[in-house]
Amino acid sequence: MAMQNKNFIGIDLGGTNIKIGCLSANMKLLWKISIPTNAQMGPAIVIDRIVDAIKETANKKNIPLKTIKAIGIGTPGPAKYSQGIITRCSNLPKFTNVPISKILKKKLGRPVILENDANAACFGEFVVGVGRNIKNMVFFTLGTGIGAGIISDGKLLYGSGDNAAELGHTIVNINGRLCSCGQHGCAEAYASATNTAKRATEAIEAGAKSSLKKVLNKNGQITSKDVYEHLAKGDKLAKKITDETAEVLAVLCINSLHYVEPEKIVFAGGMIAAGKPLLDRIKYYFKQHIWKIKQENTVEICFATLGEDAGIIGAAALARET
Ligand SMILES: [Zn+2]
Repeated sequence: MAMQNKNFIGIDLGGTNIKIGCLSANMKLLWKISIPTNAQMGPAIVIDRIVDAIKETANKKNIPLKTIKAIGIGTPGPAKYSQGIITRCSNLPKFTNVPISKILKKKLGRPVILENDANAACFGEFVVGVGRNIKNMVFFTLGTGIGAGIISDGKLLYGSGDNAAELGHTIVNINGRLCSCGQHGCAEAYASATNTAKRATEAIEAGAKSSLKKVLNKNGQITSKDVYEHLAKGDKLAKKITDETAEVLAVLCINSLHYVEPEKIVFAGGMIAAGKPLLDRIKYYFKQHIWKIKQENTVEICFATLGEDAGIIGAAALARET
């Protein structure tokens, strides 16, 4: 009986993959799996596959379902998170007004909380990653878009309608590029991994000289990884593009600093694989543009440490809070 109700499930429901992890009460990862989302099958089938995967793995790992106290699930926004409803989601096209928390609770008999995926990853880093021992943190994840989360005074910031901290849509240029959200000049429209690569493609298509042109011709596309690889080889366009990305991210850091005054600003997501050349340039532009009236800017800009497990750890940690 001592085994009962002491573990937590964290789920990261993405457009491509669903990651599921089982964590102990002190957030030690007991098992994790990843299954393809196959979102086109629709919510009923996808949710059933999640339930089956949890039951099967729990059996296989000999950590019975009865030891699970609560379940947390992270999905891209916007959603009615506090009601547990995915309202609509561009990565999960058939998920319209899906009361996923209620359905999972019915099928698994445990409380379920729904959370924004970037918030979940932010909370994971805060609880067991780079944000341990601090109380205020801003978190960015650089992927297709720029997801974000804010920890203020030890708590995630939700706002009046659950969708606060959409910092990727902070406007950095009021007459700037059109963002997928409909605004102009969002940070995301420049400095996400996808848009960093897209700006390189556009420049080449407009006639810019670059060693990336060969990549574009060969693969039909350029990725942010390609751009950083060609930066390392000394390509001038790659330098220009990655500098613009770093400058926008630095502006994002400065704006966040003024809103939140965090101890740390943390970057996560696929693009941080670019490493030091990315981080050093963000810090460089941060120093260039930050106000001079208060010189002792002690905020630390750094990379996340949990990698792709942050989402499942954070979702489980939020389930533990309930
Ligand atoms: Zn936007």
